[in-house]
Formats: sequence, structure tokens, C-alpha cells
Amino acid sequence: MTKVALRGDLLDFIAEPAWGDTGAQEARYRADHWLLIEGGRITGAQPGAQDPGEGWQREDHRGRLILPGFIDTHVHSPQIEVLASYGTELLDWLDTYTFPAERAHADLGVAAAGAERFVRALLAHGTTSAVVFPTVHKSSVDALFTAASARGMRMIAGKVLMDRHAPDGLRDDVDQAERDCIDLIGRWHGQGRNAYAVTVRFAPTSTPAQLAMAGALCKADASLYMQTHVAENRAEVQWVAALFPEARSYLDVYASAGLLHPRSVLAHGIWLDADDRAELRERGAQVAFCPSSNLFLGSGLFDWVAHAQAGAALSVASDVGGGTSLSMLRTLADGYKVQAMAGHRLTAWSALYAATRGAARALHLDTEIGSLEPGRLADVCLWDRAVGEVAERRLAVARDLHEAVFAWMLLGDERNLVASWVAGVEQFRRSAKTETTR
Ligand SMILES: [Zn+2]
Repeated sequence: MTKVALRGDLLDFIAEPAWGDTGAQEARYRADHWLLIEGGRITGAQPGAQDPGEGWQREDHRGRLILPGFIDTHVHSPQIEVLASYGTELLDWLDTYTFPAERAHADLGVAAAGAERFVRALLAHGTTSAVVFPTVHKSSVDALFTAASARGMRMIAGKVLMDRHAPDGLRDDVDQAERDCIDLIGRWHGQGRNAYAVTVRFAPTSTPAQLAMAGALCKADASLYMQTHVAENRAEVQWVAALFPEARSYLDVYASAGLLHPRSVLAHGIWLDADDRAELRERGAQVAFCPSSNLFLGSGLFDWVAHAQAGAALSVASDVGGGTSLSMLRTLADGYKVQAMAGHRLTAWSALYAATRGAARALHLDTEIGSLEPGRLADVCLWDRAVGEVAERRLAVARDLHEAVFAWMLLGDERNLVASWVAGVEQFRRSAKTETTR
């Protein structure tokens, strides 16, 4: 059995930190420790002065941070090609940039190359697990799961369902979509670390019949995930109200179709009300807060505090390509700024918890990922605390742990990432060339 010991400063969470508590005891920081990994799983940790002994492959990274790999709960694999597209809000952005890019993924070669590029990019940004929208094409799902499986990654994805209000080449129909879903579920759900998500793009692009079919799939197998978008943009909310006049709210469209359950991941949730939040809590569904995307597309400011006070589950996500970076550090930094606009201060602990153990818990995967507890698969990332003279100086004068970690979170990005391991196997290492140009 392979035995790997990584030496550095270990940071993870033993439970959810309270909002605003910079001294939260739930943040577990173990300065200068060995993280012990045997056969791909974390088996323990011990002080750096205590050598693991014979038979261990040792890597000494004293002074660097070791965290669980980040979990990005909402990201679109084909949208790397539309990152940073100028000048539109959600509905125009979809028509102008995103739908044309996604149509190209009908081609098997484009889908395979795109999936490889996407998975490599996640690992090069410190993200080891993700909940992903590929495209409407079955082949795009095969390509993504194939690329993730080659690296042993935890991947949750499914064929995008769209049977109306989408251009030619991106529409399915209820019967064909159902056959495709059943086939993909049979081949990928529960295979290795792959899980299938019934993937409704959003209410406007599915007929009531398709939503009902998606709900029936969920009802037939409670282990399936469900992912979609909800209440992202005001024009979108008005459109949904016109399309579904009988629904109490946008969220109610999904609830009525049987799509809200403990494995549902709903991106955005900006324009929800108190009744919606209570419904999310009752059904155990989570919202994926996508601050970078919400700022870039001008969608609105998500109210984390109201959401948390309602007791609803929450994770944080890049939403690339609406978001402008796959980096969860940049995403969390944007999250801090969005909350600050509402007069709330997001601690590094609440932010990092949401991107690791909190996301794992919301996905019911916290016995597998999200922390450095013994028994978890060793999905871990190694980070430089500072890159460049400015960040180095800022970190050098930090007076306490929260200040140092907060500055790392705000100033850091993928350039701080040294290496990523998935189930104990190295899957990314910053090249020596990159190191010397720094
Ligand atoms: Zn999205």
C-alpha cells in the first residue's frame, strides 16, 4: 500500500463555524504537521517533529498550507470558451455567447478535448470535486465522466435538459431525453466516484412535460442528484412567472415538479423570498452561491445571512463561464465583497467551510470529501501562502491566524497552488518553469 506523508500547515473544519466569528474553534489549524495518506485515504496527522518513519514517501512543505481540495458545486464544462464575454445580462448572454459555444460540443472530438481541458483546469485551480453542467448532448456527459474517471475524481453531472426556447442543435424532446438519461444513469451513476445529476438547465427551457419527466427520474431513484438554476436575474424571474402563471414562485415550479429534494443543487437563488427559503430548508435542497457570476452578469446580490438564518443549505460555486474564474479563492473573495455590499462580513472560516466541508455535507458526501479527517479520500491541495512581494509583505505582518488566512483567501488565486492530489495520487504539480518566473 502506498504511504505518502505531506508536511505543512493543515487547515480544515470540524464543524460549521458561526457567522462572523473570526475566532471560531471549528476551524482546525495544525501548524507544521504531517498529513498521513495510506492507499489513497487520510489515516492521520502528527506533529512535524515526529517523523513518520520507514516506508513513507515524504514531502516536506513546511510553511505552506494543506487544505482539502475545493468543491465547486456549480460550473459549466463547455463554458471555458465564453469566459469574460462582454456586455450582456443573463438571457442575452445565453443567446449571444453560451448557446453557440455549447452547440459545438455535439462533435465528439470537441466534447472529448473540452472535457479533458476542463478537468485539467479544475485540478490546476485547486478544485478536486465538482457538480457540472456539460451540454444537452449525451456525448458531452460521456466525455466528462471519462475524463474525471481517468483521474479518480468525484464528479456529479448529467445531460442538460432543454426542449424549448433554445436554438436548433441544442433542443431535445421528452422521450429522447428520458432514454438518454436512463442510459447515462445506468452507465455512470455510482460507477467509481461518478454520480448522475438530473440536469434541468432552468425552468424556461423545459416544458412542463419535461420537468415532470425529470421529477419522475428523481422519484424513481433517491440517490440521484438534481441540478438547475433558480432566481438568478430579474428578467428571468419575470419570464418564469409568465410561463408558469399557476406557480407561487420560481422555486415552486421545481417543487411542484418533484425536483426539490436533499440532493438538489440550485445555482444563484438571488431573488427568493422567505417562503422559498423555508421550502429549501424543508426539502433539504441547497443553493450554490455564485458571486463572481452574479457580479459579472449584473444579476444581483445573494443574501447569505437571510439564507443561513432560514436554516437552508449553502455552498459556493464559480459558475464559469458566467463567473470569470475557476479559482475558488477568487470566488470566495468575490463572495466577501458581495456580502459586504449588504453590510455583512464573511469570515475566512465561513467562506472556506462552504467551499470544503460545508459543500460536502450539503452533497451528503462528507464521509468521503471536504475535510482532513481520517477515513476521507485524500483529495488535498498544497498552497503557497503568498505569491509576489506585495502578498508576502501583507502576510508577514498578519497578527493572527484569521487575518493571515483571510489575506491568503483575498490575495491568492491559482498561482498559489503548488500541487493537487486526488485519492492520494498527484494530479497536478506547478511546473518548475512557473516557479522560476515568479
Ligand atoms: Zn450556471
